[in-house]
This record gives sequence, C-alpha cells and structure tokens, in this order.
Amino acid sequence: MSVCKLVVGINKISCISLTNGNAKKIGVSLFRAFSSRDLLKEAYCRTKLKCRSKKLPQDVNPTGVFACNELDLSEVNVYGFDYDYTLAHYKPSLEHLLYNLGREILLEKYNYPPEILKLEYKPNFAVRGLHYDIEKGLLLKLDSFLQIQFGAVYRGLTQVPSDEVLKLYKNRIIPIAYVEGDNRAHKSSRAKMVHLADLFSVPEMGLLCNVAEYFIRNHIDYHPEILFLDVKNSVQSSHPIMHKVVAQNVQEYIRPNPELRNYFQMLQDNQKKLFLVTNSPFHFVNAGMDMLVGHDWRDFFDVVIVNANKPKFFTEVSRPIRVFDKNANTHIWEKVTSLEKGIIYYEGTVKQLQDLTGWSGHQVLYFGDHPYSDLADVTLEHGWRTGAIINELTHEINTLNMHSFKENANWLQMLTQLIEDHQDYKRPEELEVLAQWMAERDYLRNEIKAVFNPQFGSVFRTYHNPTYFSRRLFRFADIYTSNIKHLLRYSTTHTFYPRRGVMPHEYGSYFV
Ligand SMILES: [Mg+2]
Repeated sequence: MSVCKLVVGINKISCISLTNGNAKKIGVSLFRAFSSRDLLKEAYCRTKLKCRSKKLPQDVNPTGVFACNELDLSEVNVYGFDYDYTLAHYKPSLEHLLYNLGREILLEKYNYPPEILKLEYKPNFAVRGLHYDIEKGLLLKLDSFLQIQFGAVYRGLTQVPSDEVLKLYKNRIIPIAYVEGDNRAHKSSRAKMVHLADLFSVPEMGLLCNVAEYFIRNHIDYHPEILFLDVKNSVQSSHPIMHKVVAQNVQEYIRPNPELRNYFQMLQDNQKKLFLVTNSPFHFVNAGMDMLVGHDWRDFFDVVIVNANKPKFFTEVSRPIRVFDKNANTHIWEKVTSLEKGIIYYEGTVKQLQDLTGWSGHQVLYFGDHPYSDLADVTLEHGWRTGAIINELTHEINTLNMHSFKENANWLQMLTQLIEDHQDYKRPEELEVLAQWMAERDYLRNEIKAVFNPQFGSVFRTYHNPTYFSRRLFRFADIYTSNIKHLLRYSTTHTFYPRRGVMPHEYGSYFV
C-alpha cells in the first residue's frame, strides 16, 4: 500500500511516498527543474492527500424509503400488494428447494444425465437483473446503455475473458434489437437475450450455470437455448410442488415480519382500502399470511385476487374474474358483479378490478418486487403510483456503508479525474506512470464490484453506470425500499420528495 505525505516549505514542495514502510522522496525542490515523471508522481500524491483529508460520507439508512418521484400519501386511498417477495420474504432455503426440484425434473422429464444430481446449488453465484444470451449461452450483466460489464460475463461457472467477449459481440455495446427484439414493420426479429428480473430466477440461473459447466467440462455438446428452456420449464413446473412444501412448513421458508400486521392496522385505522393481487395459489398465500399476519389476515383486505397471472392481469382486456371456492379448491362458474370482502377471487383483469371498485389512477399505490409484471403496466397504462420492494437493497446499502468501500469509491473518483487530467503526457517515462494509475484504477473498480457479489457485482450498478435492471426499476417505481415494514415509520399523509439527481454537467456545482 502506498502512503503519501506532502511537505510544503518556503522554498520547496516535496512529496514522500511510503511503500511497504520504505520512505522514498519523490518530489523535489522548486528551484530545480522537475522531470515530468516527478510532476506526475507529485500530482498523484497531492490528490491522494486531498482524498485523505476529505470527510467520508455518512452512512445510508438501510431501512430508508427512497423516492424516484414525489409521492404524497394523503392522495392515496387504496393500497395494493403483490405477495411473493413483496409481503413474503423468503429465506435462502427456498432457493435451495427450487433448485433441487428443478434439477429432479431435468432428470425425470428431460432425461438429463444422472450426474447432475451431484451438482449442488451455489448460493450467491448469480444476482437478479442479469441477461442470458440464448444464442451464445452466456450469463452477463448489461448497463442502462446496453454496454456489457466486462468481468461479469460467464459461460457456465467460468468467467469469459474480455477479449473473447469482444470477439463474440464485436463491440462492447449490444444492439437493442439483439437485447429486446425488434417489432418494427418489416424488421420483426426475436430478442436473443432474456432479462432475468425476477428473484425466483436466481436459483434458475444457478441451475443453468451448473449444468452448462458440467456439459462444458465433460465435452458434451448442448444448445444454449434448449438448455435455458429446459431449466426454466423445470424450475417453473416445480412451483406447484414448492407451494405444497412451503405451505406445510412456512417457518422454514418465510422470514417472520411481525411489523407487517401493524402496517396493515395503521392503513385500516386511517380508512385506507387494501387489496392483494398475486399469481400464487390461495392455499400457499393463506399459509404464509397466517404466519406473517395471523389467521384473520383477510379482515385487512377489501379484495383478494389469487392466480392473477400477472402481467396479463394488467394487460389483457377480457378475462373473467371468478370466485374461488376455498373449500372445494376450485373456481365457481357464476358471473362476478361485485367484489366483496372475505371472498377470494381468481384471475380477472385490472379493468374489472377498477370498474367494480371505482379505484383508479393516482389514488392507488401498488407495491411489488417485479419491475415488469408488477410495476410497468400499472404505471404506464393505469397511472397508479408504485412502490418497489427490493430485498437486495439491504445488502447493497450495508456494502455502501463499509468504511473500506467508501474509501475505495472516493479514491476511485479522484484517481479517475487525475488520469483524465494527465492523459496527454506521452513520453515513455510518463506513460509508465499513467499505466500504473490505470492498473490501480482497474484494481479499485474490481474491488468495488466484488464486495457486492464476486461474479456480477452490484444489482444496481455496473462499474459506474446504472444497470439495465435499475434503470427499468427507477423508471417504474415512485418509491422503493427493502421491506414493506419500513413504511410503518411514515404517516399516511407523508410526502416522499425525490432528491435532485446529479447530471454530468452539474457534478462540480455548488448544490451537489
Ligand atoms: Mg412478487
């Protein structure tokens, strides 16, 4: 580690670099000519000392609620909730369960080799928000400009070197049609990438990468898209079994959240209407809510809709809403003409929900964890206000609050500025110093990435830009937090004010 000490005297400025305890004077007297190498090293030391003298930023509150848009809760009369990962937060045991069930189905239904049973789940290998390239068989992280984050591209469990990534894609920016498809007239093309924006997709990615790695190591030829579809279908078709297993032992899979009941109580005491719209089946939701809120949980909700099939619930115009008979575990054929408290509904559309209740527009605040299925359409099509519940935020904020992270992030910013200011030095001895700075910058960038997740880094950022995932999330969420219980600290008339975001040209201005 290099330590700098700047000595300022009447007739000389010198900079002492202490490397591994050995002091070396690298600055010189003002009265003799500096070598440009000395000048560069002195600039480095000055910057380092300035960085040291800066006060590190204060900690971010991990239980905070953060605003992307101004949201006045006194305008909100109706609170809607998704269930999975919004009200129910799962323990890591659920990821293991989904992985194991999916792995069994791969074997039984798709005849995958029995050796894959030995492939154990690797928790924390993947993060939410990655893309899977179905053509090239790569799992990778994109930023909001569709640029690949080098160092965050994996084939199986193996990192793909940056030069190979560049060779494969010919560019670090991926064309939008490749990522999202192209539906323009005469140009129709299918997306080659799948965005994994759901927390349920994390164990899916774990299984996909484990099996791909097994195939590669054993020289077994595979088609990346077929593998992707088989894994996806296996894990998703295991959901009914997962629902049964979890419902029988909710304590093992769901994190308790005693403040949830207090939050519902606060909303009810303030004459707010509550509704639940979930894709999960009633018996599964009921078991979880019994544990989380109590056996009388349905008394808090004016409308409960299960098996909603979001995002279709928010996008389709005609799909009848039906009454669910919880005793017979089936739905009833009669037409629904009103929505009543205490009755469980099934399927339907948001149009029916709005028509039958009169709830619409900005008086509705809907909480969900999925940026597309939960938040996109209600924002874009129906003008509802939205709250995103992002579990990963706790880990992300705790990482931001680490002293070493703050030091590294602070120094990275200043070192980058130093490089930018001195990039036109071109003599060999100058280039040598600049190369050292660039190497240190690369080291810092990787340190900052790896503390979030060694393979893929932060869910919200690539090295410096917002990720593809976070850009989508912030576009569709008015507020976001890691747990719904954090809303309990705010009154039902609270206004959330967004902070003034910094644009590149504003960075040095006085109000930042
Ligand atoms: Mg959910």
